[in-house]
Order: sequence, then structure tokens, then C-alpha cells
Amino acid sequence: GSTPQHAAQGSTNTSQGASGTDVLVQLKDVNKHFGDLHVLKDINLDVHKGEVLVVIGPSGSGKSTLCRTINRLEPIDTGTITLDSQPLPEEGRPLARLRADVGMVFQSFNLFAHKTILDNVTLGPIKVRKMKSADARKRAMELLERVGVANQAEKIPAQLSGGQQQRVAIARALAMQPKVILFDEPTSALDPEMVNEVLDVMVSLAKEGMTMVVVTHEMGFARKAADRVVFMADGQIVEQASPEEFFDNPQSDRAKDFLGKIL
Ligand code: ADP
Ligand code: MG
Repeated sequence: GSTPQHAAQGSTNTSQGASGTDVLVQLKDVNKHFGDLHVLKDINLDVHKGEVLVVIGPSGSGKSTLCRTINRLEPIDTGTITLDSQPLPEEGRPLARLRADVGMVFQSFNLFAHKTILDNVTLGPIKVRKMKSADARKRAMELLERVGVANQAEKIPAQLSGGQQQRVAIARALAMQPKVILFDEPTSALDPEMVNEVLDVMVSLAKEGMTMVVVTHEMGFARKAADRVVFMADGQIVEQASPEEFFDNPQSDRAKDFLGKIL
């Protein structure tokens, strides 16, 4: 595997854990079907602490399903997935903790529509992390400040632009102090003029050493922020390489074809 570039920068979450490995998420021989459809085929993938992994590939290739298996929104048929060397829990409180450790930012924002922006960010920490309300609010305001929407704290999501809502979704994920954040096409539903305000927040998280798995078609982001690019097609990992290698010298016909269509 590759050594994440961020590992040298000494951020707190790139150190080796008690398990003595810097692999945070590991998928081994993972297979998943939806009925007759084989959507994940023998997936083997390590995500290292502090690494930014960008997943690209055609629509329907299994990118969202791959993300969703990592926080067990989708169960797998065969194979194993570990977080910090521990198998994913299947239910109950351990599963709730897993979901807190594995943040997720979706294409469609998925904020609680009838709660204020501030409540959207404090609810998880209070309920799952058992944080005191005052502490959760203080931390939430800091995070909203950081993503540039602190002045919207008392509004509800519908009163915000898509770009603002997605930045709130990132603040909400960060509030849980996750070990890794999964981004599933976080800018695909945004008007073009709002894409960069979200990508800028993601680039800054990447620079700070956050472990991130990012499904995106934003090749500029991939070049700028990715430590590694994984190319998926038809349920398989077809290629993985540094962004420079992948974009400048793709190996497989499928990757060449895909890049030819989007670049
Ligand atoms: P991608 O994110 O790369 O576009 P997905 O992971 O969403 O791909 O989907 C992979 C394949 O699995 C597609 O053929 C899709 O139609 C199918 N699929 C995804 N979710 C479900 C589901 N809940 N039930 C049945 N088929 C699904
Ligand atoms: Mg998808």
C-alpha cells in the first residue's frame, strides 16, 4: 500500500493505534449482491489513518454501496470489514457507536428538516456521545464557524442554500469526532457556483489529516487532495494509483474510456 502524504505532517490521527497498524478500515474479499445483481465483487481495500481515498467510476459501479458497507448501512454477504482492526458490530449500541465513528456525508445533505442548524449538529453528540448540552452547543458553534455558517445556526435547513446545507452536514459529521468520514458525491446535487465552497472545506479537512473516503466526479479535487485514487467498474476495483499516475497514465481500457468521457 501507499504511505499517506499526510502521515509526515504529524497530525493526531495518523499515528499507529493500539493494534500497531496504520490501517483504519480494511475490506477483505467483500462480496455483496442485491438479488441476482453482484454489486461488490471480491473487494480488497485498506484505508490508512490520515489517508484521503478518492473513489471514482461509472454510475452503477458500486461506489455508494461500497461506502454504505463501511458504516453497515448495507450488510455484506461474504468477506470481512474491520474498523481499527475490529469487525463491524451488527446491531445495538455497538452499531450506533460504529455509525458515530464513521461519519457520512451524502449527496442529498440529509439534514433533519424540522430542526435548527444548531440542533442538527448537537443531536448526535448529545444522544450518542452523551455530551452535555452546553458543551455540544459550544463545539457545534465552533464547527459551524469553521465551515462558515455560524450566522445561520438558528435557521432550519430549507432556509439555507445547498452549499450551506452541505457544509452543515460536514460540521454535523465532524461533531461526532469520527475516525473516518465517507463522502458520497457530496457536490453532485449542488448548483455549480456552490461546489467550490464545499470542496474547499473538504480540502482543509484533508490537509488537517482527517481520514476520508470520497466518491466524487470532481477530478480537480482528486488531483489536489487525494493520496490515492481507486477506480471501480462493474463492482470491482479495477485500478488504484496516485492521482498523478491514474490521471496521466491510466492502465486499463475501462479507466481510459471513463476518463475520456469525463475529462
Ligand atoms: P454507484 O454509486 O457507483 O452509482 P451503486 O452502489 O449505487 O453504484 O449501485 C450499484 C448497483 O447496485 C446498481 O446497479 C444499482 O442499481 C444497484 N443497487 C443499489 N442499491 C440497491 C438496492 N438497495 N437494491 C437493489 N439494487 C441496488
Ligand atoms: Mg452512487
